[in-house]
Amino acid sequence: MRHPLVMGNWKLNGSKHMTAELIAGLRNALSGVDGCDVAIAPPVMYLEQAHQAIAGSHIALGAQNVDVNLSGAFTGEVSAEMLRDIGARYIIIGHSERRTYHKESDELVAKKFAILKDAGLIPVLCIGETEAENEAGKTEEVCSRQIDAVLNTLGAGAFNGAVIAYEPVWAIGTGKSATPAQAQAVHKFIRDHVAKKDAAVAQQLILQYGGSVNDKNAAELFAQPDIDGALVGGASLKADAFTAIVKAAAQAKNAG
Ligand code: PEP
Repeated sequence: MRHPLVMGNWKLNGSKHMTAELIAGLRNALSGVDGCDVAIAPPVMYLEQAHQAIAGSHIALGAQNVDVNLSGAFTGEVSAEMLRDIGARYIIIGHSERRTYHKESDELVAKKFAILKDAGLIPVLCIGETEAENEAGKTEEVCSRQIDAVLNTLGAGAFNGAVIAYEPVWAIGTGKSATPAQAQAVHKFIRDHVAKKDAAVAQQLILQYGGSVNDKNAAELFAQPDIDGALVGGASLKADAFTAIVKAAAQAKNAG
């Protein structure tokens, strides 16, 4: 049985005050909630503060990006070793905002995946099609291309213990989530795609959905058999909404 993971991607939001308040709220509301792994990915500036604030709770620390280099003359970058050193565990790579604004290619994202595995960290590989690609019927083509960049260089075994977040770009931050049936169909496609290389790896793979998940639509999404939690943007900035999403995932797990 897979354990769902709900992860908050704070993006470029936060302050010392907000970090302290939000984590205090989450610790309080989530104590005793069982059946769902929880992680938060604050901006890199607040990772140390967040690490201290989550100590003794079952909230794990995540980060939003990593560089492919381990050290040296790479101004402004953060390495996998640094993330591990600071206590981060789940690292988002390939987010559509980085693919779009920072021109990150499938090949670069695959290198990041490899660097994280080497460092003993958990890659949260974001994939998903744009609205135009969706309308052109290219969802499966885009998702398989983005996964194959990792599968064909590192092999299916690299997905052991890793996470894929299916995030249709048209659903991110738009309030227009994929329907549970749409999301389930793509998640099943992704699991079957990995299973063609290794069925056991595909079976244990955590497949998150991401794209306008909120406290209202989470339960229906998590009731789908191939949706194992969510990567949450906007709603992860509010303790009550994020808590409701975590509880919905825990309930779906306990019901299933
Ligand atoms: C995201 O940025 O990964 C995301 C899913 O954002 P939102 O929940 O705001 O759509």
